Amino acid sequence: RSYTAPDKMANGHFASTGQNGTANFEHGVQVIDEDKEFNHDVSKYLDYTAVSRAGFNYHLISVFGSQSTGKSTLLNALFGTDFSVMAESERRQTTKGIWLSKNKTSLAEMADNLLVMDVEGTDGRERGEDQDFERKSSLFALATSEVLMVNIWEHQVGLYQGANMGLLKTVFEVNLQLFLKDRKSTSRSLLYFVIRDFLGTTPLQNLRNTLMQDMARIWSSLSKPTGLEKSSIDDYFDFAFTALPHKLYQPEQFKAEVAKMATRFREGHRDRRRDALLGEFEGGVFLPEYHRRIPADGFAHYAEGIWDQIVNNKDLDLPTQQELLAQFRCDEIMREVMVAFDETITPYETQQGEAAKAGTAEVIVGLGAAMKSARAEAVKNFETEASRYHKGVYQRKQTELEGKIDSRLKALFAGQLSAAHKDGVQQFSDAVSGAVKAGQKKGASYDFAEIVKEQKKIALGKFESQAKETVIEGLSWSNYKQEMTLYQKDLDKISGQLRRDEMRRLATRVERWVRSKLSDSIGLEFNALGSGRGGSGAPEDGEKPSEQRIWDRIWTLFTSTVQEAEKRFADRAASFDASAEEVEVGIWRLRRKSWGVLRSKIDEEMMEGNLLLKLRENFEDKFRYDDAGVPRIWRPTDDIEGIYTKARESTLTLIPLLARFRHSQTGAPPPLDRWIGPTPAGATPADEEDLTPIGGVDEDEGKSLEEETTILNEAKRQDLTVRFKKAADGVYVEAKRSAIGGMTQ
Ligand code: GDP
Ligand code: MG
Repeated sequence: RSYTAPDKMANGHFASTGQNGTANFEHGVQVIDEDKEFNHDVSKYLDYTAVSRAGFNYHLISVFGSQSTGKSTLLNALFGTDFSVMAESERRQTTKGIWLSKNKTSLAEMADNLLVMDVEGTDGRERGEDQDFERKSSLFALATSEVLMVNIWEHQVGLYQGANMGLLKTVFEVNLQLFLKDRKSTSRSLLYFVIRDFLGTTPLQNLRNTLMQDMARIWSSLSKPTGLEKSSIDDYFDFAFTALPHKLYQPEQFKAEVAKMATRFREGHRDRRRDALLGEFEGGVFLPEYHRRIPADGFAHYAEGIWDQIVNNKDLDLPTQQELLAQFRCDEIMREVMVAFDETITPYETQQGEAAKAGTAEVIVGLGAAMKSARAEAVKNFETEASRYHKGVYQRKQTELEGKIDSRLKALFAGQLSAAHKDGVQQFSDAVSGAVKAGQKKGASYDFAEIVKEQKKIALGKFESQAKETVIEGLSWSNYKQEMTLYQKDLDKISGQLRRDEMRRLATRVERWVRSKLSDSIGLEFNALGSGRGGSGAPEDGEKPSEQRIWDRIWTLFTSTVQEAEKRFADRAASFDASAEEVEVGIWRLRRKSWGVLRSKIDEEMMEGNLLLKLRENFEDKFRYDDAGVPRIWRPTDDIEGIYTKARESTLTLIPLLARFRHSQTGAPPPLDRWIGPTPAGATPADEEDLTPIGGVDEDEGKSLEEETTILNEAKRQDLTVRFKKAADGVYVEAKRSAIGGMTQ
């Protein structure tokens, strides 16, 4: 039954603190020692006896009376306590101070958690000593106790000048002092007179009357503070009386009477009519109105505060003390409640913080439930413990607690939403891309707009359910409306981005188609050059020969191919909700890119080796075949030189023709600038980034349309002319030789 105190008292005076810092509470606990110091072991004692958990369900009795009137003996008999009692042989005063002990009897009738204070050494008056301590201890007892027991010998009753009357006067005075500061309080006290060594010759009724008269006299003699002049003793006190026979002379009767008296320490309710009839208050002594309403877990702190005021001779202001206590205890309870809250919530905060540091988005499963229960538990536990204290303070602290909790939960909530947002956006983007890829694998028949619509629905649903799980109902901050709107906006942004990507893919496909189409058709046009009569279509009236019209045909082929591609592009783009502006930009890009395709196809065909071969073929075709397409067998009589010159000059006209992309009639370059058109208003820098500049279209390029459509420069033309002539000469010499050879054979 020993209790290990965490810290040894500095002065080491307390009897409750044994050797090695071990508090032993066998004799209860000394609340105030002989040096008028408050003992911090009180709260430990209340914990030790489990009273501190009792809320308001405890009672406090104080005992007063002259030294050596058998008070401690009586308390020990009534409550099974172990207050020290003066040895019969010694007759010396026991230690001064105030002791506290919990009722140790197991009497069923008695109230729960009954605490008894034994106020010792209150007869300083007789000894001419310490009236100061008497006053202070009375004040302390009155401020804390429901019942004040006054122990008095029967033979002292009626001795108005006696020590007891002095004590009562003090009690009444300090009571008025207290109530001056605490007018609102309705608390009353019971003055319970125990008349000792009762002989029985004078009826108790008479003794009671005498005492009541004496008290009335004392009361009227008091100088009352302003405002309380008309107050009556009955405004503050109820009275009860018990007489006990001599403990040593009539031990059996004493025991029996004590046992009867013990049953009165129970919860009572006042039946004033019955009491009036009986002439006294006879039921259970603990009336609700006596209770000081200090929650048990705050009692030690309150008592210490009260004693501090008393010992420093300050005006004791109970309402202020109660407010201070409430602040202290509410803070303490808040800290306790927050420990449990932290235990649940801190791991989530850490988890979220780490995810944020790592730049990942982690939607924490079960966060909402944990937040809800941690909040509810904290609020409930705070309410249970703290609502017993001063209402105003409690409400203020409750708001403070909720503020503290909610600021933490708010951050978690925001973190969860932002994780759900990030996560959702990523998943949405992945899902759309994945579905597009799967669609591409199956063929190009997937419906992009449908994929986006479906994935958006999934993404929104998931976000909403994650957000909903984290919402704490009834809290205005706990809603995700705004976040949901932002999320929706981001999904739209992402789908816009994905649609642009999809447009690019489409554009690439269409470009590829243009490239292959042009490769075939333009290739054919150039191949046709190889035959001197070549080219598609015979010249109509007034038209230039077919090969002179090669650029007209290439331009027509080009524009009609691109036009077809544009139609494909626009149709497909419309199927995934591309805007008119986006389509316009796409077509603009397509035209520019297609021009690039055409230009590089032409360059390929016009590579020196290729072109020389074509010219040579063209020439040979004209030289070696007659107009009917029959190969010539050269004879010496033939005008080889004439035919050669004609064929060569005819082929040579092709070089300046091919060197520049020009209309056969007007000689103008193709209307590339008009055909491509100006940069659309909707084009972004990204749309222009990968485009090759086109002379005559992009003005700041410093290159004209003429230059853009010049295929061979002057140097190349001359070089080509020289090489071609050499090749033609070779053919001519060979023909000449074969004619002569044919003759000699
Ligand atoms: P306290 O100082 O008032 O706490 O008195 P104590 O309980 O220490 O008792 C003082 C002395 O009175 C002791 O010697 C007790 O034995 C004695 N005593 C106890 N009860 C009675 C009683 O009923 N009548 C008388 N005459 N003496 C008692
Ligand atoms: Mg005593």
